[in-house]
Amino acid sequence: MDSPLSSILIIGSGVFGLSTAHALSQRPSFSSTTITVLDRSPFPSPDGSSIDTSRIIRADYSDPAYASLAAAAQEEWRKQGPNDLGGEGRYTESGLVLVADRGAPGEHYVRESQANVCSLMATAGDRDAVCELPTRASIEEALGTGGGSGDWGYINRRSGWADAEGGMVWLRRKVELSGRVGFRHVEVETLIKEGKKVVGVKLADGEKVRADLVILATGAWTGKLVDLRGRAQATGQVLAYLPITEEEQERFRDMPVLLNMSTGLFIIPPRNRILKVARHAYGYANPVSIQNPDDGEEMVEVSLPRTSWEVKDQWIPREGEEACRQALREMIPSLADRKFTQARICWYTDTPHGDFLITYHPALEGLFVATGGSGHGYKFLPVIGERIVDAVEGRCPVEFEGKWAWPRERVESVVTEDGSRGGVPGMELMDEFGRLRGDECVVQIERYY
Ligand SMILES: Cc1cc2nc3c(=O)[nH]c(=O)nc-3n(C[C@H](O)[C@H](O)[C@H](O)COP(=O)(O)OP(=O)(O)OC[C@H]3O[C@@H](n4cnc5c(N)ncnc54)[C@H](O)[C@@H]3O)c2cc1C
Repeated sequence: MDSPLSSILIIGSGVFGLSTAHALSQRPSFSSTTITVLDRSPFPSPDGSSIDTSRIIRADYSDPAYASLAAAAQEEWRKQGPNDLGGEGRYTESGLVLVADRGAPGEHYVRESQANVCSLMATAGDRDAVCELPTRASIEEALGTGGGSGDWGYINRRSGWADAEGGMVWLRRKVELSGRVGFRHVEVETLIKEGKKVVGVKLADGEKVRADLVILATGAWTGKLVDLRGRAQATGQVLAYLPITEEEQERFRDMPVLLNMSTGLFIIPPRNRILKVARHAYGYANPVSIQNPDDGEEMVEVSLPRTSWEVKDQWIPREGEEACRQALREMIPSLADRKFTQARICWYTDTPHGDFLITYHPALEGLFVATGGSGHGYKFLPVIGERIVDAVEGRCPVEFEGKWAWPRERVESVVTEDGSRGGVPGMELMDEFGRLRGDECVVQIERYY
């Protein structure tokens, strides 16, 4: 950047957009820049990926670069004063039991992750925090719920989970208090281009908003505004919730998070008498036909979110519910048949290697993209904005230069192969819904419980 920008528009106020707004508001080089955040939803967004009961906060990565960035984020999550990010119950260091099925996909990821966190813990002088769990029995003992998953893994007592919505509300308040950022509840329909330059956005009501720089932080919806085919796409992931009693809440309150990297299934300790079971998987694509956002003429097929907020009463496909049920039976047998009272599909922005996409657009001047969370972006809430703004200023952290860059080549179809995904690749949401319809659905679900 040669001269200070007079205005920046950030589209999207999830983890990527809000943390960017915060970092810009703190940085002297942007002290005279007008910063505005636009979001199609009221805050907290009812269907944004960043808003939920809980998210896992771990430095347990097979990739050392993400492991150390996550460790930096954990420093912030661990601050527990009432005005700190981790305070008032926003972060709980419950420990994480990370497991795999021996010989199955996912094992390699867990072994590399163990090596990375052992090395981080050695540096921090906390070697005892990580302990191998070499058998199913040791996994069950560490979990303490009467069940388990996988047959090899480890426990990292220095990982945990966050109240996802609580963390976002905390940061939003901080940004509002800075008095430096304007927020608007409006939907962006298209980018406005003059030749090869993006000069602003057109809103759904026709209003045009101009800016020197547009930062797209629109998560799983980004493919609607810029052509990301073969580089990133929305995939739907299943979440199922069940109510538990006060006594069960007490019993399971201090359990660690359990994540099986072979199946992708995981369980996070309950909060407010609600337990969540979910799957970190290849997910479901939802291909829809839209006009190519880059040239506006040809029709192209793009996977975009179909959320329960837009489609009322949308449940989850049967195969996803069965997977969550199986996980519950295995992980907490005493709740095996407890009915799921809520279920939803949450949308990842997946990239081929699970890397974020944080870079200027290679062909459109004035456009920066901050997305590609690939199902693991939440934990970086306290640190990712600073890195995004570094990249805006042309100083992407060296360890992420290649990873976060705009991929030169498109892949045929985006399937995240970072070694952490369960489920089956290539599923489509409507096909999976179509496998069970009408009366059949009611009969099946009744029998199921
Ligand atoms: C089920 C699930 C479980 C996950 N678990 C974990 C976990 O345990 N740990 C972890 O670290 N990460 C986890 N993640 C990943 C993490 O939540 C995401 O990587 C992160 O929240 C993505 O943030 P975002 O800002 O890219 O997207 P979002 O939070 O979705 O924000 C995008 C925003 O853009 C807005 N928007 C979209 N289009 C427009 C438009 N045209 N005009 C205006 N506004 C628009 C949307 O309304 C939305 O608010 C999980 C994600 C999911 C879905």
